[in-house]
Amino acid sequence: ADRETPVLELNNLRKSFGALKATDDVSLTLRAGEVHALIGPNGAGKSTLMAQISGRTLPDAGRIRFQGREITRLNEVRRAQLGLGRSFQISSLIPEYSARRNVMLALQARQSHSFRFFKPTLWDRVLIEGADDILERVGLRGRASVPSAELSHGERRLLEIAVALALEPKCFLLDEPMAGMGAEGAGQLVSFLRELKTQAPILLVEHDMDAVFALADRLSVLVYGRIIASGSVEEIRNDPQVREAYLGD
Ligand code: ADP
Ligand code: MG
Repeated sequence: ADRETPVLELNNLRKSFGALKATDDVSLTLRAGEVHALIGPNGAGKSTLMAQISGRTLPDAGRIRFQGREITRLNEVRRAQLGLGRSFQISSLIPEYSARRNVMLALQARQSHSFRFFKPTLWDRVLIEGADDILERVGLRGRASVPSAELSHGERRLLEIAVALALEPKCFLLDEPMAGMGAEGAGQLVSFLRELKTQAPILLVEHDMDAVFALADRLSVLVYGRIIASGSVEEIRNDPQVREAYLGD
């Protein structure tokens, strides 16, 4: 897949629950390097759309392409193996493990197939060096042997970035990552996602409009299962139809 091919391409996705059209002919793309935010009122079909992308639910009609490859009928595990939807858990750190070992676990999850023929001691060295390189990138090399529980709050966020980097997904699918966070946490998460999108593009479902406006390179608005508008933050903010249907003025 070249730079022009969207990382993710949805064509006319449809999913009904009985008479309810939860997603009704939804098409959108996610390109390399961008955050594409999907907004819309409760019940609009955002989570149903994300489920069709991750493979948790199959669409009734339409097509999904990932890195130029048709994945519409692949199951969730296969899609995850291709690097889709392996979104990080924001609190996935193991507290009693060192920063280094937390990153090593993520590296191991990703690489165990290609490296299984190494002798265990060599394999450990590969993991340790790989982990330390990533810790260096996020500025935590000097804290590598500290248990993650003993890191400061800010250091833990950096370690979460390191773990996400180690998993190397090709695309992040995030459904309301800001939910339940205070203003400070949300601000930190915005910075975190800015760093993350340089590694892989992000399809972001989010209610927190400050976060959406701060992060999104493009925005699509879903209402009753249909995308009613798509464009830059500026275009969407000034779209009268969107203001009426969703932004509440
Ligand atoms: P959003 O995430 O935008 O709030 P959802 O995708 O969760 O919306 O839901 C879209 C619509 O589909 C809602 O009306 C919801 O009640 C309905 N829905 C979602 N999942 C199911 C299901 N498994 N069975 C029946 N109806 C569902
Ligand atoms: Mg939802």
